[in-house]
Amino acid sequence: MMEQYTRIKAEYSDAFLFYRLGDFYELFNEDAIEASKILEITLTSRNKNADDPVPMCGVPYHSATDYIKRLIEAGHKVAICEQMEDPKTTKGMVDRQVVRVITPGTISEEEGLALKDNNYLAAIHLDKDLYTVAFIDVSTGESRITHSDDWTQFVNELQGVGPTEIVFDSEAEAHLIDKVKNEVTAYFSPHVKSQAEASPIQFQLEAAQGNEIACLELLSSYLYSVQKQALDYLQEVERYELSQYLQMNQYAKHQLELTRSLRTQRRQGSLLWFIDRTETAMGGRLLKQWLDKPLLNQRALEVRHNRVEQLLNHYFERVELVEQLKHIYDLERLVSKISTGSANARDIDQLRRSLTYIPRINQILVALNTSIGDVVFPQLNEFSEVYDKIDQVLQEDLPISITEGNLIKAGYHQQLDTYRDALENGQQWLADLQAREREATGLNKLKVGYNKVFGYYIEVSRLYSDQLDSERYHRKQTLTNAERFITDELKEIERTILDAQEKSVNLEYDLFIELREFIKDYTEALQNLTREIATLDVLASFASLSEDENYVRAELVETAKDLTLVDSRHPVVEHLVGQEAFVPNDVQIQPDKYLLLLTGPNMSGKSTYMRQVAFCLIMNQIGCFVPAKEASLPLIDQIFTRIGSSDDISSGQSTFMVEMMETNIALEQATPRSLLLFDEIGRGTATYDGMALAEGILHYISEHVQAATIFSTHYHELTDLEASIPELRNIHVGATEEAGELIFHHKILPGPADKSYGIHVAKLAGLPPEVIQRSQVALNKLEARAKKIKQTDTQQLSLFDVSPEEPVADVAWERIAEAIEALDINHMTPLEAMQNLAKLQEDV
Ligand code: ADP
Repeated sequence: MMEQYTRIKAEYSDAFLFYRLGDFYELFNEDAIEASKILEITLTSRNKNADDPVPMCGVPYHSATDYIKRLIEAGHKVAICEQMEDPKTTKGMVDRQVVRVITPGTISEEEGLALKDNNYLAAIHLDKDLYTVAFIDVSTGESRITHSDDWTQFVNELQGVGPTEIVFDSEAEAHLIDKVKNEVTAYFSPHVKSQAEASPIQFQLEAAQGNEIACLELLSSYLYSVQKQALDYLQEVERYELSQYLQMNQYAKHQLELTRSLRTQRRQGSLLWFIDRTETAMGGRLLKQWLDKPLLNQRALEVRHNRVEQLLNHYFERVELVEQLKHIYDLERLVSKISTGSANARDIDQLRRSLTYIPRINQILVALNTSIGDVVFPQLNEFSEVYDKIDQVLQEDLPISITEGNLIKAGYHQQLDTYRDALENGQQWLADLQAREREATGLNKLKVGYNKVFGYYIEVSRLYSDQLDSERYHRKQTLTNAERFITDELKEIERTILDAQEKSVNLEYDLFIELREFIKDYTEALQNLTREIATLDVLASFASLSEDENYVRAELVETAKDLTLVDSRHPVVEHLVGQEAFVPNDVQIQPDKYLLLLTGPNMSGKSTYMRQVAFCLIMNQIGCFVPAKEASLPLIDQIFTRIGSSDDISSGQSTFMVEMMETNIALEQATPRSLLLFDEIGRGTATYDGMALAEGILHYISEHVQAATIFSTHYHELTDLEASIPELRNIHVGATEEAGELIFHHKILPGPADKSYGIHVAKLAGLPPEVIQRSQVALNKLEARAKKIKQTDTQQLSLFDVSPEEPVADVAWERIAEAIEALDINHMTPLEAMQNLAKLQEDV
């Protein structure tokens, strides 16, 4: 056995080999040592007393999924090795084979897939200057392919889609693979494409090019090596161009918290979390895909907007539609399971239940189609044939197991009904038989009985046994006082009863498989249905959201950088602080005034404002309405952000370096149709450095990039740039001081801010009063000095006009002033005060 184990293990050296031994999966050697640690199970050994005991651990096969899940989560692969023969009937070694390898990118629902997330396996094919990637979600059969000749764009896409596992050709150029590994977090699986046995997994892609073919072949070869079966449910590969969508790099997606909150790294708190009102798992996944790829095509976008508007206009229909959608199961994954033969009766029952809602949905869709002419919600296929078939065949209450009966309805199959009758009515038949036999023989004490060794029999007293017709009654057993007989009829009943159990279970299984195969023929059509339901779900979700939160449909504007939002809001912050407390703000970006320089104290709402502009644009381009009273928006091709976040620190690079790298990417890649959001650029370095850089960047944007930009800063000095950059407009967030306290109004106003209020914010944050007082003194001094320099400036005096003595005297007085300010008079005795005064006199 260990020989067999070692041979199989050698083929799957990169996976934990789960070796089936009876009711357990056993792991040996290194696998056992490592797995016992990860899974916290006992490590034992085989041949304990031998010289070289083999380390071993095991998990029961019926609870294996949980253990497998934990190994996968820990970033490993698991190869499942089954017994291919029944050990009871096999002489010698039982044949064993690996039937499937479970990898992070191909894990199935039972093994713990999240409902509203896709789980992607990617294959990458890297030519010298063409980079191709194909993604597949094995649980749904969806696959997509794209390529780029731009490395950054390619990597962005990989990061954006976020595959769990990436397959690469182990013979490919290692340095490129290393580059991907450096930038993308995933489980990397090297694979050598098998030429000998062509993979039966076929991807359909129209007019596939060389790079695409190579990439898909790698994917299909790898998939077959782990799944070990053809996947008939694979949908046609969708080819897409990255330039068809609004692109955001990982920094932007991350900083905007599109799908994960920065602080918790969870869905909660993100834009997706807030806008997701979908009812089905399929809808949830589709919404996430849409959010990852907002549209750039105006016509396609208008179709989505029209439908949302239509759903919004029909309140009652929408509410009812949503009510129906609630009942629909994850058909997309169900269909895959049916196709691969892993669906059980409950899965098929879920399909049946889901299908019952389609006719009502269709009625609602007809009602929705009445008013706006060009909105068409196509009717859904009701699959009445599939529904009727399932309903004829399957019972209502179903077990998980498909091999223990209780699956098939009575009346569906005659033979099965006979078996069941046999089981249920067996006792009655025997009673009937006994009555008939008594009557026929006239022996009132005749009885029908059963024993394990001889089975069923007719028993009569030995006194009368000779009276029985020996043609009909065959002697079976002789007791002291009685004889036992069998008749053909009783034999028949016996056979029926004893076989009934086994046969009915087998027949039920066959009938179930027949049903599953029947449904399998509808795979593609059912996949279309799931897509349509998912789309409806997302659109209805947009409508409900827009209604609940008072969003508005944006007018789409052709001109770049022509953007108006009246009373716009940040959807998530508005939700957190409450609708009454949130202060809505206008946004005005125009083709000739597209650089907004936003000043204002910290904590006043600058980054909230910037994010809300991005959100309005993104929400618009996924087809949703936007959080504003009025909106007219152009379609944006890319969004770049540099919005500071605490996690830069943990990434190990200095904040300033990250800031500059991201700025560089934005300046390099943005087009006049892009949006740039720069929050406090240059904050990470010395004041003058930072200010100078900010100024340089703003000039560069106006001269070269010409993209719509919001640039926030606390350097007031920058607001003077309005004079030299004609495209720049100053705006600020209002704040007022009342009785030494700072009041934020969160209102964006025209013109520059007058003050920084940094110290006020520090006070709000609860810094010790001593720090606050000291800082206030220092600030007053710096401001006084700045004022003086400015005055000198305005008097047109150059530094060289000032006589050299003057600054020296200035310094002496400044030192004295500093010393006076530093005195802690409240805690001084009169004598100490005198001594200090004397010291000051000396200095003068
Ligand atoms: P800044 O970027 O200026 O430091 P933020 O945008 O982070 O400030 O905002 C700080 C806090 O102020 C937010 O967490 C939010 O609670 C609140 N806030 C921001 N904008 C608004 C607004 N328009 N209405 C109400 N509260 C707001």
